[in-house]
Amino acid sequence: MNKLLYVLLIFLISCSPNDDKKARELMDILSANDEMLHSPSPGEWLYEHKEKGQTFKEYLLCSPVTPSDSLNIIYLQPIGDFDSLKLSLIQYTAEYLQILYGCKTKVLRTLNNSIVPDSAKRIGRDGNEQLLAPYILNEVLKKSIPKKAIAYMAITEKDLYPKPSWNFVFGLATYKARVGVTSMYRFADYGMDSTNYRICLRRLIKTSSHEIGHMFSIHHCTHALCAMNGTNHIAETDSKPNRFCSECTAKVIWNFKLDTLNRLKQLHSYFSKYKLTDDDDRIMADIQLLGKEGYK
Ligand SMILES: [Zn+2]
Ligand SMILES: [Zn+2]
Repeated sequence: MNKLLYVLLIFLISCSPNDDKKARELMDILSANDEMLHSPSPGEWLYEHKEKGQTFKEYLLCSPVTPSDSLNIIYLQPIGDFDSLKLSLIQYTAEYLQILYGCKTKVLRTLNNSIVPDSAKRIGRDGNEQLLAPYILNEVLKKSIPKKAIAYMAITEKDLYPKPSWNFVFGLATYKARVGVTSMYRFADYGMDSTNYRICLRRLIKTSSHEIGHMFSIHHCTHALCAMNGTNHIAETDSKPNRFCSECTAKVIWNFKLDTLNRLKQLHSYFSKYKLTDDDDRIMADIQLLGKEGYK
């Protein structure tokens, strides 16, 4: 065979979307466990924001960042004053993200709140200090992105706001620049101790995985109940599971070329270790469904 033709053939094969077949098969099976979204009520995200979602096919066409030898680590950058309980939450979040996306996840040394100047801070409606999230993305993270970072997310203990007209935001991320920020301020109902520790972890892993999903070009999900659904308030966040629906799972499995069953089993171990029972029940249901359908 002509060498040029051979090279071209190899190139076409490596670029072809053949490996989406397995992800599509997975999506079809898992869809039986998807839970329908209810029609949105006033104050809920989809009531305020008309979104059309993103199909698996649309995802394949949007050229998401994909792991490679040069980009394969998720970095978490704590910003603020964290006690040991809060720092351990960040470590447990790293553990979760490493399983969910199959990417090594590292926690960097904590930066002081003074990294955000007064011009990018304000006192919010509740009387609490808030940090301007886009400042953190554009002036802190984009200027210090670690060499192998496929995603680089700050975690703050202070509240965030995205622009002056908004009350607050749980997190913010970019689709292409691979940076984002999540605040844990509202996850502990303004103060964390051993009694609300688990709910705080549940919320932090949900929002962190959601923001990092955006960094991998996954849009808000309107397909089913899903960690990639947009949320407007903490009760709405709590109503979402730490489960990616069939469509969003297919996006992750396809992009990161993960062993689905192994990933689900590791998620089960994680949820069971931290006693996140509702999330564990859903993962177990997915494992059982795949087993029943003979998915390998
Ligand atoms: Zn979002
Ligand atoms: Zn979804």
